[in-house]
Amino acid sequence: MQESVWTQDIELPERKKLDRDLRTDVCIIGAGLAGILTGFLLKAQGMSVAIIDAEKIGSGQTRNTTAKITSQHGVKYSELIRDFGPSAAWQYAQANEMAISRYEKIIFSKKIDCDFKRCDAYLYTKSDKEKLEKEADAAKTSGIPAELTQETELPFPVKAALRFPNQATFHPLKFIRGLSEELEIYEHTRALDIGKSVVKTEGGNIQADEIVFACHFPFVNIPGYYFSRMHQERSYVIGLENVSRMNNYYYGIDRDGLSFRYAGKYMLLGGAGHRTGEHGRKERYSELRRHASIFWPESRAVFQWSAQDCITPDGIPYIGTFSEKRPNWHLATGFAKWGMTSSMISAEAITNQILNRPNEMMEIFSPGREVSTSAILSMMKDGAHTVMDFSQYIIPDTGKKTCTHMGCPLSWNPEEETYECPCHGSRFDKDGKLLNGPAQKDLAR
Ligand SMILES: Cc1cc2nc3c(=O)[nH]c(=O)nc-3n(C[C@H](O)[C@H](O)[C@H](O)COP(=O)(O)OP(=O)(O)OC[C@H]3O[C@@H](n4cnc5c(N)ncnc54)[C@H](O)[C@@H]3O)c2cc1C
Repeated sequence: MQESVWTQDIELPERKKLDRDLRTDVCIIGAGLAGILTGFLLKAQGMSVAIIDAEKIGSGQTRNTTAKITSQHGVKYSELIRDFGPSAAWQYAQANEMAISRYEKIIFSKKIDCDFKRCDAYLYTKSDKEKLEKEADAAKTSGIPAELTQETELPFPVKAALRFPNQATFHPLKFIRGLSEELEIYEHTRALDIGKSVVKTEGGNIQADEIVFACHFPFVNIPGYYFSRMHQERSYVIGLENVSRMNNYYYGIDRDGLSFRYAGKYMLLGGAGHRTGEHGRKERYSELRRHASIFWPESRAVFQWSAQDCITPDGIPYIGTFSEKRPNWHLATGFAKWGMTSSMISAEAITNQILNRPNEMMEIFSPGREVSTSAILSMMKDGAHTVMDFSQYIIPDTGKKTCTHMGCPLSWNPEEETYECPCHGSRFDKDGKLLNGPAQKDLAR
């Protein structure tokens, strides 16, 4: 079944479409985790907030996550120290650790029944022990009590594993159901155009002093130019029965590394990632099922789904002012498949920004931050991709569908039966219906 495990045991109440003009302090575009959390924090401070979503609450990447709430984001801290220095790595670590505690506080104070559980997070390697040793030192320098070990619950031996204690998991849709109860949300209300202080939709215009882009990939091209500063990557997950419980979760740092996370009575096995639009001929779900049959011969795949996330050149989210030209526009994107803590960090930072409160330790997330050397290299690679993809456009192929965002030729993903844009990651179903932005329109029939 091509639906995530989270959609099985929950119904989110329907919200109506916007059908009139509105005036509000803040308009939030996007009712995923980032948008709902931001709306919740702002409303708690007495602001009037209207949230709109082109589809339904939580219907974007949030319903397809694996929902590990963690400050362990792959081999992150050695890269942060290399590119930005130890104080930036410290900022990143502390912001993420605080995000975990903030979830716990909100869930307990609001009594949200969402399976929140503290556990440990592990990185593992089957080959590169040295890399993990370096990451262990970097994590400790960043203030995380990380610990190297060889003991894991994985179904194979490892060269090394790196444990971050006291991380967490939850059910993302149960959480946003609880949090969104008292929020003013309009579903099936797409932001079509944005003026300085107005969000235009089919059913009415929203006048707002502040506008928050929590729509995954910001669809406004200028100012900001985020289309040239991000790409998207897609990953696949299968949900397996008949696998004994794992209490903690695991993420492989080798080229063929996998993600292991237990939820309810299912093992969620993830991996086989690729840049959106560049799926090649590989059969991603079969690859995951092949691994599962080796690890747990008795297991049976009962769910399969995929999702994608925005990746910035330095792998750090863009959280803060959208552009100097638009100081009242705020942005939360580029979560690089670690959007649980990043959504909380965004919600807190944007709330502080709107309330004119100091935002401590946020420079590392600023969309206007300095570009590191490795980020420049990554941007050059991204630029080359776009040029290559556009060159197919110059050599006309009349059968090729092109993206409604910036005209890039689309490629066909046979496993998902979707047209995908290799430049910026927009997706369309086989009939041309828009699935993921930054494009905002269906394909021409
Ligand atoms: C396979 C996979 C596994 C993952 N696992 C984890 C994990 O274990 N831990 C972790 O921290 N992160 C994980 N992530 C990342 C995480 O799921 C995402 O970063 C997060 O869900 C993004 O939330 P969001 O609110 O920014 O976006 P979304 O949930 O996509 O919400 C954006 C919303 O904006 C709406 N929208 C778009 N355009 C418009 C418009 N013009 N007008 C109105 N609405 C609009 C969409 O309909 C959508 O509902 C994973 C990602 C992948 C790909």
